[in-house]
Amino acid sequence: LLITFLFSACGLSSTQVANDKDEIESKINAIVDQMTLEEKVGQLALRGGSSRDKDGLSKELIQQVRNGEIGAFLNIEDTADIRTLQKAAVEESKHGIPLIFARDVIHGFKTLFPIPLGQAASWNPEVAKEGSRVAALEASAMGIRWTFAPMLDISQDSRWGRIAESPGEDPYLGQVMSAAYINGFQGDDLSDPTKMAACAKHYLGYGAAIGGRDYNTAIISNEQMYNTYLPPFKTAVENNAATFMSSFNEINGVPASGNKKILTDILRGEYQFDGFVVSDWNSITEMIPHGFAENEKEAAKLSANAGLDMEMTSEAYDKHFIELIKEGKVAESQLDFYVKNILRIKFRLGLFDQPYIPNDHPGKKMYAEENLQLAKNAAIESSVLLKNEGILPLKANKKILLTGPLADKGKEQLGTWAFDGEEEPSVTPREAMESAVFEEGLTHSRDKSNKQFNKVVAAAKKSDVIVFVGGEEAILSGEAHSRANIKLPGAQEELLQKLLKLNKPVVMVIMAGRPINITEYVDQLDAVLMMWHPGTMGGPALEEILYGKAEPSGRLPVSWPKAAGQLPYFYNHKNTGRPADPEKFVGIDDIPVGAWQSSLGNESHYLDVGYTPLYPFGYGLSYSEVKYDKYSTSMASLQENQTLTVQIRVTNIGVRETTEVVQLYIRDRFGRITRPVRQLKRFEKVTLAPKESKMIQFELAYDDFKYYDNEGVFDVEEGEIDIFVGSNSTTKNQMTIRIGKQAM
Ligand code: BGC
Repeated sequence: LLITFLFSACGLSSTQVANDKDEIESKINAIVDQMTLEEKVGQLALRGGSSRDKDGLSKELIQQVRNGEIGAFLNIEDTADIRTLQKAAVEESKHGIPLIFARDVIHGFKTLFPIPLGQAASWNPEVAKEGSRVAALEASAMGIRWTFAPMLDISQDSRWGRIAESPGEDPYLGQVMSAAYINGFQGDDLSDPTKMAACAKHYLGYGAAIGGRDYNTAIISNEQMYNTYLPPFKTAVENNAATFMSSFNEINGVPASGNKKILTDILRGEYQFDGFVVSDWNSITEMIPHGFAENEKEAAKLSANAGLDMEMTSEAYDKHFIELIKEGKVAESQLDFYVKNILRIKFRLGLFDQPYIPNDHPGKKMYAEENLQLAKNAAIESSVLLKNEGILPLKANKKILLTGPLADKGKEQLGTWAFDGEEEPSVTPREAMESAVFEEGLTHSRDKSNKQFNKVVAAAKKSDVIVFVGGEEAILSGEAHSRANIKLPGAQEELLQKLLKLNKPVVMVIMAGRPINITEYVDQLDAVLMMWHPGTMGGPALEEILYGKAEPSGRLPVSWPKAAGQLPYFYNHKNTGRPADPEKFVGIDDIPVGAWQSSLGNESHYLDVGYTPLYPFGYGLSYSEVKYDKYSTSMASLQENQTLTVQIRVTNIGVRETTEVVQLYIRDRFGRITRPVRQLKRFEKVTLAPKESKMIQFELAYDDFKYYDNEGVFDVEEGEIDIFVGSNSTTKNQMTIRIGKQAM
């Protein structure tokens, strides 16, 4: 019934949708029946690299398209080339099958929004949805109808460079972001020429790389796979993600690109995915150095039998698929299955009817004013205020010194995967804060020279407040850019130390792809604002936050560690038999000299940094204060098929309008396997006028308390569940209910 309602709401009846589906399937079958083996294998080829030689677009490449040897392209940068290649496919090849043009349009095309970790910090799915809608609008105007996003890898390790692209450490926040991104990129109707097919990546477990070292081995138990790593991908299928990308890593000894369990049993079997899966860049042939496939032909065989539809850049399918069929090592029906999956998405994209960019495409104007406003709002909502000793918002009459290597770097503030982002249209803090005195101090984030420091100090002495904008330049996070030490690079700490000695208020603004270790000097700072890499409008967003025209309303989507040695760290960890009491931390200096065995604190912690992070998951300040009270649950015990309502009152007790992220966590006290100490289950971002109160309600179904065990059973047993509602993952506002199959 609900489905009928949804379809009729978009003007389509469910019968009509089913008929359209049947019609597409019969068209697909008709084409596949006519295709030679070579043409079928051609559809599985995604070609990248250079499409041009000295005479322009390569003639050989155009001919290959005419022959039906290529199914899709990535990174063709010239719209005229896209048109020529598409024409060769649609008008000059035997079956007229259109190509798909792909690109990594991750957090914007020209108008860049904050990096995905920053968008997750907004805790506002509208930010991600609008950001990806704008990305699709601009990129599709250039002929790109397929993006390699969203990246849905849960990561518990800030050393990993690609945490910048991820939704952070929590599977539920990851699910909310997954749905938002996909709906933004794809809209309700993928055949709309302003939409792009999404690609849920990297499937699976790429974020579990041991030690946070990119591409590294992942060892994931069945329960972790189902409870932590799979949920955002499951949500992607439920939201009709057109494509998936298999990851580079191995999981428990089997590379993802040759992993039948994840590609076929789970994705096709359990989730009923009907789009196509593309490999990552050469990830099929990388199974050779992994030590899984002996040679290219075996690699092709393993992927073909595991359920991988399309091959990115390497050519193992191209060279060996037909031979493998002839030798009986791969069934021809498997090849047909792949071709059909690919054609299905080409049909859904409307490419058979409209292969070219329509003349009246509304996205042709890049950096449109309304899109810049959305990007600015996204940067504001993503910014997390970590510390504020009352210095912020700044008073208008204060003399500001703006300094630091990221205060005026239009390109660097865009962050990783911003291929199409340009320096000039991007507005830096310096450009946005015209009245501030500017002394850069360091020319880039890794600069080790202290040559300019005296100038900075001299200017600082004449100012009332120092705003230091530092962090990591774009290249220090992202793919293959893991760091073992997550402190500020270069001489940034040295410059900060010099400024901190002046006894003037210092506001530290961080632009980086990951949390930065600031533990040693954070006590001396007056304010800390995390902006991630904020995108095109980072400067104006900062100016509005600093002067209190806007409220920093981001909250951490990852725990902020005290030291890299604490990593991996995640708030939703399990307890040990010796849980550390954060309030009774026994540090390295508390142990008596000469002690043989300390009688103090034999707990699961580090002697030098304790157990807790510097700032917990979900944390972030605003310029006002919010009080939580009147919390209640609608029932004391919850049974199968019932819904629990949790209520709480939030009141803005400050004098400014504020935005609060109300977060609900649960703790299942005992389970058939041990349960995390906290798990995020719901959240809501609310704006409150001064003195305003709102009653917030969350609904939780019985199934929301179920979890997977290592045998794959999804259930919850009778017992007590604590429910916490508050402003971050350490909130103490607690309720307790009982849960059980029948009335108790
Ligand atoms: C990355 C993917 C990306 C692909 C195409 C790979 O190296 O892992 O995330 O989509 O390249 O650029």
